[in-house]
Amino acid sequence: MTSPTRVLVLNSGSSSLKYQLLDMRDSSRLAAGLVERIGERTSRLKHTCLTSGETREQNGPMHDHEAALKAVAAELSRDGVGLDSPELAAIGHRVVHGGEFFTEPTVVDDTVLLEIERLIPVAPLHNPANLTGIRTAQALRPDLPQVAVFDTAFHTTMPESAARYAIDPRIADRHRIRRYGFHGTSHAYVSRETARLLGKDPSEVNVIVLHLGNGASASAVEGGRCVDTSMGLTPLEGLVMGTRSGDLDPAVIFHLERVGGMSMDEIDTLLNKRSGLYGLCGDNDMREIRRRVEEGDEQARLAFDIYIHRLKKYIGAYYAVLGRVDAVTFTAGVGENAAAVREAAVAGLEGLGLAVDAGLNAVRGDEARLISPASARVAVAVVPTDEELEIATQTYALVGRE
Ligand code: ADP
Repeated sequence: MTSPTRVLVLNSGSSSLKYQLLDMRDSSRLAAGLVERIGERTSRLKHTCLTSGETREQNGPMHDHEAALKAVAAELSRDGVGLDSPELAAIGHRVVHGGEFFTEPTVVDDTVLLEIERLIPVAPLHNPANLTGIRTAQALRPDLPQVAVFDTAFHTTMPESAARYAIDPRIADRHRIRRYGFHGTSHAYVSRETARLLGKDPSEVNVIVLHLGNGASASAVEGGRCVDTSMGLTPLEGLVMGTRSGDLDPAVIFHLERVGGMSMDEIDTLLNKRSGLYGLCGDNDMREIRRRVEEGDEQARLAFDIYIHRLKKYIGAYYAVLGRVDAVTFTAGVGENAAAVREAAVAGLEGLGLAVDAGLNAVRGDEARLISPASARVAVAVVPTDEELEIATQTYALVGRE
């Protein structure tokens, strides 16, 4: 019998389950979908069979992740690619927090589950949902390897000087406080694809990756290894995001509590869910913000300017961290689509060898592409991220070629 070549990628959120089924012989996608509002009466499964192009929807209560995954399994079976198929090699799971412990994708066993559980205090929203996804998949296919691919793993190469906060190391170690970074699967994929776009090996290039989605993070990648990233203990640090503040003086928190009379939970909600672009102007979608800016809306203009100012500071900081930069690459929803953000982020940085060609920047597309003028010292690129493909690739590399 030939070895199995399919990988199911699962991304379990607290009330959602995203999935893709890939065939690793050619990295083609066989099916993809999303279950939303798990645990509510109005759960919805949207499934697309990518070989036929057919899309189906199921509405109605799915009480938990087990019910959701069973519904997904039934849809996959209808397409003839069910979970019971001998062609399925493994299930790859996105796990948000792997701490310092997990530096690579890992086949799940009881010890791995325990360690992911031990990390719940530093990832209270994500790791419990990721664990539920793994346990549910294990129950359905106990014989199949389950592989955990960690958002933090790519950043475990950061030197201590970048990973540590300037606080008493005994306190930091006791509470596992350090800069872990997130979006690592995306930063890994995009930095490698940037090297490919430049016709070089990843070990030869230094790249600043700007992952600008609803969550946003920057990373400095030296010869294929991450040396700094903008998110820290949690995904709150760094760039201005859709609803998160990013960097701010920690004393703002004391001030809000002592002078503003807010509770810690209220401050947590304020900074994570009601700040960033949304907090500044009431919108977190860059399309809407750009529309308002074009109409002369001052509040949207200020939000945009604050967003760009922070982005520029990180480009400059990571330029200094790397010393030599070969490329600055934009990715994720905003980075891939918002030409105005790319133009503004690089404007005025000619002294650093950075520039954008207006014509190339205006071109829309799904392909990795250069948007800098041919003469530029540093390449500026747009590389669509593909976290599912990266999770599938890492999963298959671990289990597929035994
Ligand atoms: P997530 O962090 O949720 O995975 P994505 O990477 O999908 O986010 O990015 C979502 C964001 O991308 C949206 O909130 C929106 O601001 C932005 N976006 C998507 N399409 C466009 C577009 N055509 N122009 C500008 N911004 C866009």
